[in-house]
Amino acid sequence: MHHFDRIDGALHAEGVPLESLAEAVGTPAYVYSTATLTRHYGLLREAVDAHRDALGDALIAFAVKANSNLSVLATLARLGCGADTVSEGEIRRALAAGVPGDRIIFSGVGKTDAELAFAIDAGVRQINVESGAELDRLIAVASSRGKAPAIAIRVNPKIGAGGHAKITTGGATDKFGVPVEEAIDLYARASASPHLTPVGLACHIGSQITSLEPMEAAFRTLREVVLTLRANGHSVSRLDLGGGLGVPYHGQTDTPSIADYAAMCARVLEGLGVEAAFEPGRLLAANAGLLLSRVIQINQRASSAGEDGRRFLVLDAGMNDLMRPALYDAFHDLAPVRPREGERLAYDLVGPICESTDVFARDRMLPPLQAGDLVAFMSAGAYGAVLASEYNSRPLVPEVLVDGARWAVVRSRPSYDEMFEREPRADWL
Ligand code: PLP
Repeated sequence: MHHFDRIDGALHAEGVPLESLAEAVGTPAYVYSTATLTRHYGLLREAVDAHRDALGDALIAFAVKANSNLSVLATLARLGCGADTVSEGEIRRALAAGVPGDRIIFSGVGKTDAELAFAIDAGVRQINVESGAELDRLIAVASSRGKAPAIAIRVNPKIGAGGHAKITTGGATDKFGVPVEEAIDLYARASASPHLTPVGLACHIGSQITSLEPMEAAFRTLREVVLTLRANGHSVSRLDLGGGLGVPYHGQTDTPSIADYAAMCARVLEGLGVEAAFEPGRLLAANAGLLLSRVIQINQRASSAGEDGRRFLVLDAGMNDLMRPALYDAFHDLAPVRPREGERLAYDLVGPICESTDVFARDRMLPPLQAGDLVAFMSAGAYGAVLASEYNSRPLVPEVLVDGARWAVVRSRPSYDEMFEREPRADWL
């Protein structure tokens, strides 16, 4: 559910007409809804709190990789949300947005010594260790800082899941985490070090997961590992269950409900006496954002011998602004901001980038469109702006946050001068 609705036929972001935003900010532009972010966080908070007996005082740590805009993070931080981070930059963003260090989790498969030192000094809640090599480096770094940071071992349960092979993280060949046997060994090594405080385990098996079954199987594996560790004399007080819950990109209702997800987690953790952590990214942000774009022109290709004609809707947003379709065949609904009357037509939705992969969708049935019309890629609030680039020397797409009837540009579109200033010319040129 989101807060982008039609008022008098025209799509609005909460109380703000997208037509006026396009006028004021230009296109393409990302637009986020405070009400949707707030609602999604609230739903998860409520669902998790309903199982306090099994999940403890659970931390919800937004996966910053999904949307790292400072105002989006600040919106969530004000609600009490923590942050799941994977780089020094993301930790810095979370802190700058007002997330306290003790609500920040530091994950990631390749943290540098400098990043580990930064995280320790920032007092993050826990560092999720993903390999033996990382554990060794972390012991050395922690000892040099004179601290004993809390750590969790990320388990790879050999259960991959997710909406596409490229967003699966828990399979046997995925680079993330360590197998169960190694996790038990690493936990023992961490416990033996005076420079670390092992507190638990972590797991994240993939993204856009639309069935609870693989998650439940993975969490049951975690549960077994907790019992083994305890039998070996270790204390385990936290379980980080990662993110990954899918969202209804197609407007379908077959994604698991947040309440069912929380109930499943509670069922698996029942009686363990651990505090759970959740790292939702997409779940909180995807439907809270859209990418507003304008039709540049329609390139009509007549049919020729053996080939159907094509109707290319050429948009001013390209794969550099919204990469998901080119990267992993992702689906985004396209909504005309003010639909015209008339028979629906099949369009190929393309951007202006000089790459064959700059195609958002083929044969999409839409009301008739004309050059200059505004359209919105829906559900673009997660893994949208964060993946944008300046490819083809297109200025980085701006971001707008709406709250009721007010709005603010929360990342501006750079001018060409600003873009060029970042590239000082070599002094011999
Ligand atoms: N936690 C970790 C460790 C991740 O790698 C990811 C995404 O890849 C997430 C959380 C967020 O996943 P999602 O956006 O699917 O909830």
